[in-house]
Amino acid sequence: MAERQAAVAAELAKLRDAYRARLPREIAELADLAAELDGAAEPREGLADLEQRLHKLAGSGGTFGLNALSRQAHELETTAQAWLAADFATVGLAQRRAFAAAVAALAGTLAQGESTPGAMGSGGADSAAPADAARHVRIWLVEDDASLGETLVRLLGQFGYEVRLYQRVDAVEADVRREQPDILIMDVMFTDEGINATEALMLRPAFQAMDCPILFISAHGDFQSRVRAARLGAEGFMLKPLDVPMLVDRIERTLDERFAAPYRVLIVDDDVELARHFSLVLSAAGMETALVSEPAAAIDTVAAFHPELVLMDMHMPGCSGPELAMVIRHHNEWIGLPIVYLSAEKDRDKQLQAMSRGADDFLTKPISDAHLVAAVRVRATRSRQLADLMSKDSLTGLLKHARIKETIAIELARARRNNQPLSVAMLDIDHFKSVNDTYGHASGDRVIKALAHLLKQRLRKADGIGRYGGEEFVVILPECDQETAQRVLDDIRARFAALRYQHEDREFASTFSVGIACTLQLPAANGDELLIAADAALYAAKHGGRNQVRVAGGSTGASLG
Ligand code: GH3
Ligand code: MG
Ligand code: MG
Repeated sequence: MAERQAAVAAELAKLRDAYRARLPREIAELADLAAELDGAAEPREGLADLEQRLHKLAGSGGTFGLNALSRQAHELETTAQAWLAADFATVGLAQRRAFAAAVAALAGTLAQGESTPGAMGSGGADSAAPADAARHVRIWLVEDDASLGETLVRLLGQFGYEVRLYQRVDAVEADVRREQPDILIMDVMFTDEGINATEALMLRPAFQAMDCPILFISAHGDFQSRVRAARLGAEGFMLKPLDVPMLVDRIERTLDERFAAPYRVLIVDDDVELARHFSLVLSAAGMETALVSEPAAAIDTVAAFHPELVLMDMHMPGCSGPELAMVIRHHNEWIGLPIVYLSAEKDRDKQLQAMSRGADDFLTKPISDAHLVAAVRVRATRSRQLADLMSKDSLTGLLKHARIKETIAIELARARRNNQPLSVAMLDIDHFKSVNDTYGHASGDRVIKALAHLLKQRLRKADGIGRYGGEEFVVILPECDQETAQRVLDDIRARFAALRYQHEDREFASTFSVGIACTLQLPAANGDELLIAADAALYAAKHGGRNQVRVAGGSTGASLG
């Protein structure tokens, strides 16, 4: 079966490559035809031919992933159609020339990022574009030491953050009235003589009205300074000399809390009005809700909505809450889904009995809005933490080993279905043992985290990122050919190598090596085989001197740092 699939995929790939190879010539002929329209008085035949071939190009181009080309061809086809339907003699010379120029320009579209054999659509080519990165983060940095400020701007830029540098706090105050960053980072000096200039400014209304997290950088980490920072609302306190990867870790954690997706809560209650009320209350608190008033519809909704918590009425016609809870628990994948009864039942024994049938908690109606929100939030938070714990690595928040293989299998199937390439990369930090031995295990951990953050910042949302083992990572790049994967990972390699870590008063750097395997080069490979090929390429990168990217079956390193 897999063999047949691979054979089909190989056939399709061949077809596509042949099609692409023919395109430049076809476009040149179309351009010639269009140029001939210029002088001809009655060139209906040429125009009809052109119209048909543009039509074909619009259709096949889209099928083979050349979307921009397909769109343009379709527009030109529409124009040609209109001219065919009218009296062509009335079409002015300027119009004909503009049309011919537009047809000739198709060659440019083909060449622009879509001409690489196998570079399908625009997805792969965009891999490193910050706009497409995991999230766009604006940081304002207040640093009076100009050279430190510029260094920080550059290093934070490596992680994909947009950083605006201020040398004075009052300049920030002016801007804060108009716009706000996602995070404000300030270098502060807490003096013994009480309130200093920074503190005084921070207490002014503009800053007090700010709604973004604030991190302080300070030369002194004594208790009094920390208390004063906390009093000013600082969410983090970083000591000088600054360890930038540690600062990034702090930024990421702060943002994770801020930008966490809203909790999804399913409300099951036959009292529609009441259910709506609960839904409104929870929505107002920033949660996402789905309503079910017919217990029979609950299973489908759970499957479609993926709630993180179910609020359930006890007494419903046709099916009681405890019965529905049991039905939900019959599905293995929902055994961990928290179910909380919300009922007017006040008898403690009956409540306990109901809970013994698969639910986790009991809230009694009537319940105040504030109490409902708090109760749901606490349980949903816990539910999400547990779910993350199961699937994500605790140090880096990336996918765990088992999940990586699952993700590759899913993406590979999708890639075959859509006739798109898929690249898999294996990364391994160089001489990591000596980082641990020289600077300690905690420093090693920070290097691992820095790499995790960099990968999350630089790759697309659709890319899978996992921690495969200790200092080994796997990156899964859908709709990405080998050349693009190589370019993107080499960019990340260079950025990582440029980072500096602080250990006591010493500074050190770290590098990693990469091996890449792509389905275009290995059309018959299954997920495991792709990983093995990537690992073999990684081995070649290690032996080629480390700090470099290699591709499966290839012999050339992308670059040396
Ligand atoms: P190479 O360039 O060939 O990859 O050399 P290496 O030293 O990186 O490779 P090796 O596999 O010999 O050593 C990996 C080390 O990574 C050994 C292990 O103690 C360390 N390690 C694994 N997981 C962690 C972790 O979570 N934290 C820290 N600090 N170290 C870890
Ligand atoms: Mg290793
Ligand atoms: Mg290693």
